[in-house]
Amino acid sequence: MKHFARVTTLAAALLSASLITGTAHAQLAPAAQPAAAATAPAEARKANIVIIGTGGTIAGAGASATNTAAYQSAVVPVDKIIASVPEISKVANVKGEQIFQIGSESFNNERLLKLAKRVSELLKQPDVDGIVITHGTDTIEETAYFLNLTLKSDKPVVVVGSMRPGTALGADGALNLYDAVLVASNPASKGKGTLAVLNDEIHTGRDVTKSNTFKTETFRSPFGPLGYVVEGRTLFYRLPARPHTLQTQWDIDKIDKLPEVAVVYAYGNANPAAVEAAVKSGAKAIIYAATGNGSVGDYMVEPLKAARAKGVHIVRASRTGSGVVVRNAEQPDDKYDWIVTDDQLPQKARILMALALTQTNDTKALQQVFWKY
Ligand code: ASP
Repeated sequence: MKHFARVTTLAAALLSASLITGTAHAQLAPAAQPAAAATAPAEARKANIVIIGTGGTIAGAGASATNTAAYQSAVVPVDKIIASVPEISKVANVKGEQIFQIGSESFNNERLLKLAKRVSELLKQPDVDGIVITHGTDTIEETAYFLNLTLKSDKPVVVVGSMRPGTALGADGALNLYDAVLVASNPASKGKGTLAVLNDEIHTGRDVTKSNTFKTETFRSPFGPLGYVVEGRTLFYRLPARPHTLQTQWDIDKIDKLPEVAVVYAYGNANPAAVEAAVKSGAKAIIYAATGNGSVGDYMVEPLKAARAKGVHIVRASRTGSGVVVRNAEQPDDKYDWIVTDDQLPQKARILMALALTQTNDTKALQQVFWKY
């Protein structure tokens, strides 16, 4: 981190020189700021941001500029990505660190833990002000939710990706990365949990989800984004309502393994063998991505009850993509000793359930976790 220290000293020297010579930028004078300035990136000292590269399309390359959706992901090193956006150096002192070079569909528990532990380590360093993680968009929402629940710091952590490789016409990675660094550098982003910045929007790691296979406007939160990034300004309009980071019961430094949690998807003529396979493979819980408001086909009730009888927790979720699964409505959860996800998507419910199971096996306590987070 010597590099950060040097740049900071240089920035301070330049700042004091400009103040002495009377050439301080108007943006340094609080009175000259417009109303939204509390969230604008006007700082006397540039923030020190570590950009951790994990791969994904933001590190992808296509054969031609017209390959916007067919390309190889996870090939460009993070330092090269950073160098391709020179504007970043005007807003922060950045340092790249390559932890993986993978498509995010290849994330597993081991990789997730390794990433989260490294982020935690970096956040403890006094000369690190924030972290940006370049990540594939496919599972960015799972990583964001996991970090949101397990990091013990109020420093900004921002996940970012892109839908098009840097080689494509209309590539979105450069601006997304620039915006992510802006958000991570801004003191207004402190204490808001893990954020996802893509397509001019700032989302909470709890809610963000990918909703389209190829469009740049793919990330959505059912309750809307927390804010926007516009013309270099970080603008927040909402706050995350559910506990995160410092307020949660998990600490990544104390988690070395996650229990196996399976997701079983519901469809007409679904095969109960999927439930049985999950039980056999050692899953401690099954997130049942049920139809509608967590409804379970008559031929699937017994296999799920049998799984619960073997000690495997059953969590009713919905495959619809949003909305609350109501307890004891479509199924008698109290009677079956099942759990409902509240509004959490199946893939995110898996993350929460795995974390919850590191602390308790009690159904009531597990249900509370879903209502709380
Ligand atoms: N499959 C890629 C990934 O998640 C897609 C992307 O990054 O947009 O790594």
